[in-house]
Amino acid sequence: MGASKSRPNLLILAGTTEAAALARAVSAAGIAGTVSFAGRVERLPAQPLPQRVGGFGGVEGLEAYLREHRITHVVDATHPFAVQMSAHALAACTRLGLPLAALTRPPWQEVPGDHWIHVPDMAGAVAALDRPATRVMLAVGRMHLADFLPHPQHFYLLRLVEPAKAPLPFPQHHVVIDRGPFSVEADRRLLQEHAIALVVSKNSGGTGAYAKIVAARTLGLPVIMIDRAPRLDRLELESVAAVLEWLAHADTDLGV
Ligand code: NAP
Repeated sequence: MGASKSRPNLLILAGTTEAAALARAVSAAGIAGTVSFAGRVERLPAQPLPQRVGGFGGVEGLEAYLREHRITHVVDATHPFAVQMSAHALAACTRLGLPLAALTRPPWQEVPGDHWIHVPDMAGAVAALDRPATRVMLAVGRMHLADFLPHPQHFYLLRLVEPAKAPLPFPQHHVVIDRGPFSVEADRRLLQEHAIALVVSKNSGGTGAYAKIVAARTLGLPVIMIDRAPRLDRLELESVAAVLEWLAHADTDLGV
């Protein structure tokens, strides 16, 4: 079967503000597409395209979905720390010969005034908290809170998108429910109000979560910065416009 240039039928792997912006732009451009959410939160962000929720069932499940729904292009607009989904998307698209692009945010870079303690992964952040009791803003996402159980000596300030369903297992903690984007002034106040001495953060990149990093800088606080996993071998684009441009040119041969 020869290569055929089809009308795009896009799958957007979502869960980020970038994915929501892409969905709006794709809809406005009259391109067909579906937005996929993992289903971790109950209140999904409003967006104009059809959506599906929940895991695909590994690489094979994703492949089956892509075939069944005659997807022509995949945009991985997941969070930079959603490494499993990204690896699955790359594997499935490679096997099916489908064009894949990642809509990514460059990592934050340390600037003068920052005091970052780099760790390679979540386990590194846990190990870095093996220290005398202090007051920590733990910005690692709900799914990873339990990793920090070995260090109950600290006070933890937690900011979650939705209230936790089960009681949090830290003896001393305070939870703020907020979805962001956050402002430097508000985050500075938050850090001061809770007398935070140390921030733990993923190097998520982007603007929405950067406020706490700037706030920590202005207060002279150290940040345990969880670095990203190595880059995948894939096309990485940093703007919605670049994705639309790529969509206009990426060919596909689905053999369907
Ligand atoms: P992950 O560890 O890479 O993925 C675990 C599994 O969840 C995947 O194998 C897949 O299940 C399912 N999954 C993940 N993203 C999906 C999507 N967009 N659509 C359908 N299934 C998805 O992901 P994670 O770190 O738990 O993140 C889950 C979601 O939250 C992602 O959509 C991500 O964009 C968003 N998010 C993550 C972070 C973070 O720090 N990790 C922060 C903000 C938002 P199957 O194998 O069954 O297909």
